[in-house]
Amino acid sequence: MDIKELISYWKKNGIIRDEKIIQAFLSTPRHLFVPDEYKEEAYNDYPLPIGHGQTISQPTTVAIMTQALMPVKGNKVLEIGTGSGWQAAILARIVDPGIVYSVEIVPELVERARKNIARLGLKNVCIIHGDGSKGLREYAPFDRIIVTAASPRINDEWIKQLKNNGILIAPVGNLWSQKMLRVTKKNNKIFIEDLGGFLFVPLRGEKGF
Ligand code: SAM
Repeated sequence: MDIKELISYWKKNGIIRDEKIIQAFLSTPRHLFVPDEYKEEAYNDYPLPIGHGQTISQPTTVAIMTQALMPVKGNKVLEIGTGSGWQAAILARIVDPGIVYSVEIVPELVERARKNIARLGLKNVCIIHGDGSKGLREYAPFDRIIVTAASPRINDEWIKQLKNNGILIAPVGNLWSQKMLRVTKKNNKIFIEDLGGFLFVPLRGEKGF
């Protein structure tokens, strides 16, 4: 498979309709974010190991989450779980001149993701080493929050750090299965939609597993 085949599969199945999301995928090649030994598999539609027991997510999952987050130009986004930096880079393309803050708990992955992002010349991604299970209070509030590790719950701190009219998506459940939840904050009320079943590596840290 290559990226064009993936995109035509997404279009045919109504997974992605938004041209700016398609452009972001085309200008952010996944093979630049996977370890050398998996480069040949970069456009296969499954997660790949990135070391330290972690993974770069499946392309279709990244596509679904990106679309569900409804990012727009100028947004300030928080990603929890940088991993390889691929999802952060895709979002940075879409929200430019907005900014993506991405928090990663594994220091070696922080270093690698920073290099991956620098290679693409992206200036609007800020990768921070820390425990994102508590969000990122220093830079809150955010227009969008995306959690890319399985969480036992939507935690209150994330909701507090979300702007009014903000959108958060997170896979929530137990270690073996999660539901992708989309949370919208409107006039300080919370609306939750279930976008279906997924499987992610666990969120660690104070409010994780
Ligand atoms: N978004 C990533 C990408 O584009 O490659 C994939 C994320 S991977 C499925 C989940 C990541 O969440 C892992 O890199 C893991 O180390 C990180 N993680 C787990 N718990 C975390 C926490 N409490 N704070 C920040 N990152 C965390």
